[in-house]
Amino acid sequence: MYPRVLIDLAKFRNNIEIVKKEMDDKGIEVFGVSKVFSGNPIIAKEYLNAGLKTIAESRLDNLKKLNDMNIQKVLLRLPMHSEIEDVIRYSDISLNSELNTLKLLSQEAIKQGKVHNVILMVDFGDLREGIYEEEELYSIIRNSLNLDGIKVIGIGTNLTCFGAVIPKISHMNKLVNIKKEVKNRFDIELDYISGGNSSSYYLLGNDEFPQEINNLRIGEIFVCGRETAFGNRVKGTYDDVFVMEAEIIELKVKPSFPIGESGVDAFGNKPVYIDKGNMLRAICAIGRQDVGIDGLILIDEGIEILGGSSDHMILDVTGGKRQYKVGDTIKFKLKYGGILGVMTSEYVKKIYV
Ligand SMILES: *Cc1c(COP(=O)(O)O)cnc(C)c1O
Repeated sequence: MYPRVLIDLAKFRNNIEIVKKEMDDKGIEVFGVSKVFSGNPIIAKEYLNAGLKTIAESRLDNLKKLNDMNIQKVLLRLPMHSEIEDVIRYSDISLNSELNTLKLLSQEAIKQGKVHNVILMVDFGDLREGIYEEEELYSIIRNSLNLDGIKVIGIGTNLTCFGAVIPKISHMNKLVNIKKEVKNRFDIELDYISGGNSSSYYLLGNDEFPQEINNLRIGEIFVCGRETAFGNRVKGTYDDVFVMEAEIIELKVKPSFPIGESGVDAFGNKPVYIDKGNMLRAICAIGRQDVGIDGLILIDEGIEILGGSSDHMILDVTGGKRQYKVGDTIKFKLKYGGILGVMTSEYVKKIYV
């Protein structure tokens, strides 16, 4: 049945092992991020198999799926006040930036008889989550000392997610300075100094990378084989852990330019087409309900995606490396957004190889 995504668990595990070895050598613990594959337990199990100690997720719905897995669990997205009970129940550590949220976590943790661990996020200018004013950070830590049931065990930052800010050694040094200041002011030794996500990976090659940074939270390198500061491939990893297959339902020579007066397409956009004469056009039974076109990388480099709608994709297969026929499949590697799309679409079959 198509469309389907082939998930190569051995390749995924290889990617984790390659990165883990490098991190181990540098004394850095890596959190295995599972949100891009919807916290799928079969895939997440490879984090455990590869020897990771911690899984990190942005959604509690996904952490619930992983509840039976004997591994430390981190909630990456700042908790909603409406989900505090489940945060305490399903995660061991959460990332936070709001004192009021910490107060609620404290009350609930006491209620459940637990101690919940907290990593405070600092914003260095990427302008997604995190405490922006350093004094606010110290004030939150001071206040948290009076809150039973929670413990601030680390600080972290997140870059290249919203503002596309590239991590630098200077960002890492800022984190280290905050760690030292926390030690000075409160005599607290923080366990986790978390230097970022797949975009901070490239800094490991820099001699000035401070040894105090002892944690990264990694998803994309494991699933795509790429670091994300510059989009470079990571040596020894695979970029085809996830491969999407779609079936051809029509194959005909047709013009490249629509015939008739031009209005708007199915999504209200005014398309622009170039007249290249006749071409061999394939329609695949796959559409926006399965995955966005932007998230796909054609494996046959001789063909081209022309566009698509909810349930159809139109391709120019004139220059194809194969002679396609109706009933054949077209294969794609997936970018981060593509993996997110296929893993959240109930229409895409998941096949483990
Ligand atoms: C998603 C996420 C990560 C992982 O990012 P990748 O680019 O997939 O490595 C790390 N930290 C936080 C807070 C996240 O939301």
